[in-house]
Amino acid sequence: MNNQDQADDLEQTLRAIEAAYAANLPSRLDSLREALDLCIQHPDVPGHLNALLIKLHGLAGSAGTFGFAKLGQQASELEIRLTACIKGSAPSGKDFSPVAAGIRKLLRWAAIDPNDGEIEQDTQDTQEGVAATPAADSEPDVGRLIYLVHDNGESVADMAAQFQYFGYEVVTVGGLDELALAIRVRPPAAVVMDLAFPAGILAGAEQIARIKAGCRQRFAVIFISTRSTFEARLATVKAGADGYFSKPLDMVALVDLIDRLVARDEEKAGRILIVDDEVETADYHATLLRQAGMDVRTLYHVEDILQVMGEYRPELILMDVYMPACDGIDVARVIRQDAMYLDVPIVFLSSDSNLDNQLNAIASGADEFLTKPIRPLHLISAVTSRVKRNRELRSLIMRDSLTGLFNHSAVKEHLVRELATARRMQKPLSLAMLDIDRFKSVNDTYGHPVGDQVIRALSRLLQQRLRRSDIIGRYGGEEFVVIMPHTTAAAAVPVLDQIRASFSNIRHHAEHQDFTSSFSGGVAEIAPDSDAEELLRRADAALYLAKDGGRNKIIQD
Ligand code: GH3
Ligand code: MG
Ligand code: MG
Repeated sequence: MNNQDQADDLEQTLRAIEAAYAANLPSRLDSLREALDLCIQHPDVPGHLNALLIKLHGLAGSAGTFGFAKLGQQASELEIRLTACIKGSAPSGKDFSPVAAGIRKLLRWAAIDPNDGEIEQDTQDTQEGVAATPAADSEPDVGRLIYLVHDNGESVADMAAQFQYFGYEVVTVGGLDELALAIRVRPPAAVVMDLAFPAGILAGAEQIARIKAGCRQRFAVIFISTRSTFEARLATVKAGADGYFSKPLDMVALVDLIDRLVARDEEKAGRILIVDDEVETADYHATLLRQAGMDVRTLYHVEDILQVMGEYRPELILMDVYMPACDGIDVARVIRQDAMYLDVPIVFLSSDSNLDNQLNAIASGADEFLTKPIRPLHLISAVTSRVKRNRELRSLIMRDSLTGLFNHSAVKEHLVRELATARRMQKPLSLAMLDIDRFKSVNDTYGHPVGDQVIRALSRLLQQRLRRSDIIGRYGGEEFVVIMPHTTAAAAVPVLDQIRASFSNIRHHAEHQDFTSSFSGGVAEIAPDSDAEELLRRADAALYLAKDGGRNKIIQD
């Protein structure tokens, strides 16, 4: 063998090892996630933290070697932070939550792109973050960049400001050549074209079509024009435009459209709880479902089921029928005894193909009976379709049709649940009651449909600016309720006040003129003996004070 052949051979071997590592990476990450989950579920077991450290260490040591440099680097930084946390020498002492948040972020990022691109800097803690984290900026949104292409200075700053109130980052760009360059550097979520198109809208549309075709990442394109001719619209459609707005501009409608276009499907394909005493089987099914994009929690000890149900709130339970501690069918009965869990689908998985047992399972309140071994695709499709159907049903029952927010009864149900969790975990919780100011006069002056647009604008703003763990409901006509778990009133007030300030600057569009609106809010934090009614009453009383004190303000009770 000559030198060249030897080198080629080695190259080939290395490639094969790298490929094997890459193929195995998802399961490595899964086991890291599981180690993390254990630490969160049982924070007082020191062994779990050490197990997590070993996983991080393994990843830190290997990822770089096999071509995943950024992943290796991040893992090694987290390893250092976790070591400091275990020793209690980290800035946050033995508080594990910042490290947990960092690992979650790494897992999220690694699932999308372990090999390339920037991992965001660790900012605030997210889900399992420390108590009372300010909400508004705790989850940086990466997909909210808008390029605003314009050739006239006057209205552009104003339009940019309007987008910013809705939480978009706006970069103004002077023309199409500049746009092409900017997109190459940093692809946006949307491009808004406010151009007079001196060379004709057709030429402009062709140019944007080329830019769009040349970019790997999809983005929305919206044209704004003073012309509203059919030809102009046709040209933009051919250029792949997603929307066409004529002036005077209805900003709220424009933001509404962009929201819908850029809304990434952030919601996972489902939150699944797997109950199986056989660790390997449970993990195998978990891996399959995770690869299909689902969020999965495994439970090997069925005794903990009610606690896990409360914490994790699965959208579907996949359960083994025969377990040593108790029979899965009895567990299903226990779950169904709680009215809150009546509609959570339960799918049984068993090696038993005996029909009587299957019927028995169905009678206990199970939704389906699958026989092991099951083909991976069959499992994924059975679970996916159940989750989807159940979501649709729940959304009909729980969502308000104008805003898509939780309706009155859903929000009350959530409040009872969140209060119980907060009390059990000894965490703060705040409740805000918001009400649009002088809304009757909005309806009287501009008409009911315009009033509806104002309600939708506020609901969208709340959805964008609050944390995903906050629960937002439309409580009545122009009244909203926000439940903020893990948040003190002192932390909630500034967040809501920022939203209040933004909202009061949003320009709403009516037939003959634009106008602004505002809302007032009352905030109350749980006390040791709070129940839902008392908390709602206190928030409402604070709201009344805000109204009485001149409106357009947030008052803490
Ligand atoms: P305040 O500042 O004291 O809250 O004054 P207000 O005018 O907002 O309060 P009031 O409760 O008197 O009026 C609320 C109005 O909201 C009355 C009702 O017609 C209107 N409204 C309720 N639901 C809807 C809805 O879904 N769409 C529209 N457009 N209006 C609604
Ligand atoms: Mg009202
Ligand atoms: Mg009102």
